[in-house]
Order: sequence, then structure tokens, then C-alpha cells
Amino acid sequence: MEDAFFKTADRSFGFCFHGNPLDRSSDRREDPAFLAALRSRPDARTVLIARDMPILARGEPREPLLPLATIGALGGSRLEILLGLEPSGAPVFAALLPDVAVEQRADHSDGFLDRRELFVPGREDLELVDLRSIAVQGLVPPAALAILGEAKAIAHWHARHGFCANCGAPTRVAAAGWRRECDVCKTQHFPRTDPVVIMLAIDGERCLLGRQARFPKNMYSALAGFLEPGETIEEAVRREIHEEAGIACGAVGYVASQPWPFPASLMIGCLASAQSREIRIDGQELEDARWFERNEVRAMFEKRHPEGLLAPHPMAIAHHILRFWLDGGGA
Ligand SMILES: [Zn+2]
Repeated sequence: MEDAFFKTADRSFGFCFHGNPLDRSSDRREDPAFLAALRSRPDARTVLIARDMPILARGEPREPLLPLATIGALGGSRLEILLGLEPSGAPVFAALLPDVAVEQRADHSDGFLDRRELFVPGREDLELVDLRSIAVQGLVPPAALAILGEAKAIAHWHARHGFCANCGAPTRVAAAGWRRECDVCKTQHFPRTDPVVIMLAIDGERCLLGRQARFPKNMYSALAGFLEPGETIEEAVRREIHEEAGIACGAVGYVASQPWPFPASLMIGCLASAQSREIRIDGQELEDARWFERNEVRAMFEKRHPEGLLAPHPMAIAHHILRFWLDGGGA
């Protein structure tokens, strides 16, 4: 079986969480003098995260990068991470604030969307907005959104890795926030990125889309699933499509990828050539799956599908893989 290789250039498509402008300076994370000099710069800024939610300065647009001194004004941080340097050389940190730095007014979360109403007491100039809402509503410029994605993913990892997975002892932060170390058993722990394959099975002029019960009403999207240990991207694509929809696939081609900080995934977008046609949904992950003709998908994008069916939101890579296929990509 021969896998197609579609990628010839960086297909960024300009989608959410792409285009992080920071120079991560990963080779200097262990240099204390370098880090101290960065901290003392008057133009040093930080992303603030409390209870997994970014804190933004109100305004048009919202400002997610706040002066480093804001950390002290809000009572100090649990830890600081060097996210990288702006083109000007100004450093950008992420600070994880203790839970007590913010308070909760209400929680309307529904298992899909984080709808906690959090606020910083006494700071009307600041607001907490969950990252999905920031992306969907375009509350910050694209470059800032990519930085927020980086910050949220690594802050989420730190918040849950205070103890060694090998021996249970407390771990400490190293490498400017890019490693945790256990002083008891000497294990080093690195931030996780969880790869997810997300793909369209293609049958001539049709593609396979499905919907999960938790999706917004009438929306159909690409199938997706986590890669498992010992599996290639191509094998994961074929397994997921077969498990979820009963379709056998042959060649698989890579299209593009997207950091997806919910909490720390990398979405790997692919197309797969279908070898069977009869859909058999698993009934667990999907509540429906169908073949869609090109003109039907076009109608979904243009919000004129006769059944009112909709394409996935532009925030998600599924939207862009679908558009890529619709425009003749991968043929
Ligand atoms: Zn240990």
C-alpha cells in the first residue's frame, strides 16, 4: 500500500493557533544570567493564566500580553515560563497564578464549552475569557492567539504535573518552565503534546463526514482520534475511520497540522482514499456519518444546504481540510 504525500509546502491556511511569532530561544533556557536579564527588561511581558483561563486587559482588541509587574500586583505566580522573544527582543513569559487570585461568579459549562465566569477581584480592567471563545470571537490578533495557545497548553501541563509520575515525589521546574525534574529518582519530565489524526475519507467526488452528539446542531465534520503508541499517522487514520464508520481506506496523505490547546493536542490533518463504501457507525463516538458530494459541501460552507447542514467552524482544522479537498487538493 503506497501512501500519497501531498505536502510540498507549509500549508498554514492562516488558521487559528498558527503563526506564533516568538523565537523560543530553547538553547538558552538553562542560562540563568540570560533569564535574569530578560526578567529585568522594562518591555518584558507575560501571559497570565489562572484556573486554565487566560487573563486579558479590556480594550479593542483585548491585550493578552501584560507588563511583567502585573504578576506581583496580583499576588505573585506559582511559576513562570519563558514562552520566547518577540522580534524586538522583548521577552514574553507565561505566569500561572494561584487559584485564589481569581474568583468564580458562576459556571455554565456544558462539557464541551468552558463557561465558567471568573474574575480578578478589584481589577475591572482585566477579564478572564476561555481560549475557545477568544478564538471563535476573534478577540485578539492571530499572532497573540498562537502565543495564548502555547501558554495555555504548557500551563495546563504544569498545573497537573507537580508530582513525579515515576516515584510520586514533588517535582521542580527547570529549563525556564520547559521541564520538570524529580530530585528523588532523577527522572526528567517534559511537556506533553498529544497527537490527534483528523481526516476525510475520499471516494471519488465524495467525502466522509460525521457528527458527534456533542457537536453544534446540524454540523458535520471530519472524523478524528488520538494516535496510539506504536502506530504511524497513516495507520491511525485508517484505524479511526474503520472503527468509527466501518470504511476501509488505502493511501493516506498529509495535508497540514494545527496546535490545538484543549488541552495540549496537535491536530494532524489528512486525506485517505476509501476502499469501501458502506458506512457502519460505531454508535459511540458518532451519532451519524454520511458521504457528501462536493456540491453539498459547498452548500454547507455557504449556509444554503437544503437540510440546513453546516461545515465546521473556521477555527478548526477540519474546516480547512474540507476546503482544501473542495478546491481540488489531494486529487
Ligand atoms: Zn521521581
